[in-house]
Amino acid sequence: MFTDSHCHIEDDETALRAAAAGVEAMLNAGRDLDEAEAQLLMCDRMARLRAAGGLAPMMWTSAGIHPDSAKAKLGRIGVDEIVKAAEKPQVIAIGECGLDYHYGADCINEQKEMFARHIEAAGVSGLPLMIHQREAEADMLEMLAAGKRKFPELAGVIHCFTSTPDFAKEVLALGFYISASGIVTFKSGAAVAEVFKSYPQDKILIETDSPYLAPVPYRGKTNEPAFVVKTAEKIAAIRGLTVEETARITTGNFFNLYHKATRPESGSDDGSAGCSVLGRKVQSV
Ligand SMILES: [Zn+2]
Repeated sequence: MFTDSHCHIEDDETALRAAAAGVEAMLNAGRDLDEAEAQLLMCDRMARLRAAGGLAPMMWTSAGIHPDSAKAKLGRIGVDEIVKAAEKPQVIAIGECGLDYHYGADCINEQKEMFARHIEAAGVSGLPLMIHQREAEADMLEMLAAGKRKFPELAGVIHCFTSTPDFAKEVLALGFYISASGIVTFKSGAAVAEVFKSYPQDKILIETDSPYLAPVPYRGKTNEPAFVVKTAEKIAAIRGLTVEETARITTGNFFNLYHKATRPESGSDDGSAGCSVLGRKVQSV
């Protein structure tokens, strides 16, 4: 089975199409606590469908404020609000949060303040950070290092990793994961793909970040979790693995990082020819 570790989807059909393609687990990332309700309900609908024997994915969500809205939400969302939202059973991560100096160069201080609250919330709740990072490497490393000093167990992932090998090295020193999006399949993504060639195998995730960044050969189309298979194929090729091994490894990594998510029953993530979903056989490719 494949796992999409970071997507933004709003309709059930998209989720069900993914399950039919072998993408049986996904983190439907939260960007704003005010809009979290729809995602929580979708997680519940998928869980009910699976319980009834349907071919639906395991779906979880996260609690956080995207850096795009950090400034607007600064007066209303504090550590307590994030921690409280994260207590819901469907919530397995703190985020999407982070620093984006590409689009948010005019509100760097507000972003840092909001990200600091997420680090605190992750430390208090024991949940990993799901981090958005763009053109803010130095501040990101400084803030994560400070977070680690205060909360030695702090864990997380730089989602949709697009940065340099040097930054990856520092991220690894913190024990964090990095996640590959469709960008690694782009011609222009060759340097980013290189980072995924050497990063430790037990610290790599794959994602779509749908509806954005559809991988080759779907580039330009609306992205969806079913397409994470293409990113898995690329990671398999650059690391000399089979696609099945890549699916098994990245799915295992997902459950290692997001420890609050219940692992599928044994035998369903073994990466062999297919996997059993409540009695139904599903091909993993
Ligand atoms: Zn996102």
